[in-house]
Amino acid sequence: MNLPTVPRLALIAHDHKKDSMLALAAEFLPLLQGCRLMATGTTGGRLRKELGLDVECLLSGPMGGDLQIGARLAVGEVDAVIFLRDPMTPQPHEPDINALVRACDVHDVPCATNLSGARLLLRAVQARG
Ligand code: PGA
Repeated sequence: MNLPTVPRLALIAHDHKKDSMLALAAEFLPLLQGCRLMATGTTGGRLRKELGLDVECLLSGPMGGDLQIGARLAVGEVDAVIFLRDPMTPQPHEPDINALVRACDVHDVPCATNLSGARLLLRAVQARG
């Protein structure tokens, strides 16, 4: 992974995964405090409110937040994505979710879609330099 001094991370969690995202962020709090963070609206709001993280909140996922992150990623403005998806619940914005994951593959941006992958990814970010 080719990371800048201040990595730019995008964080997204579906509703049933938001508590897991909060727990993960608490586990990696010092690391995340040193990153530039962006998130979909509700996920970002909780990270700000409950952990005091400085997160740029984009639109909520179903309102286009995933697409905003995908657009940034496509122009090189995102270094890694943690996207805790809920595989058990149909999502109204499924096409947007697929577009974001596809953009990660097109641009070779690391994307973790479950907790174990997210931990591995964050450890790799931690080990940079
Ligand atoms: P949210 O969006 O953080 O605004 O809930 C996440 C999603 O459902 O894609």
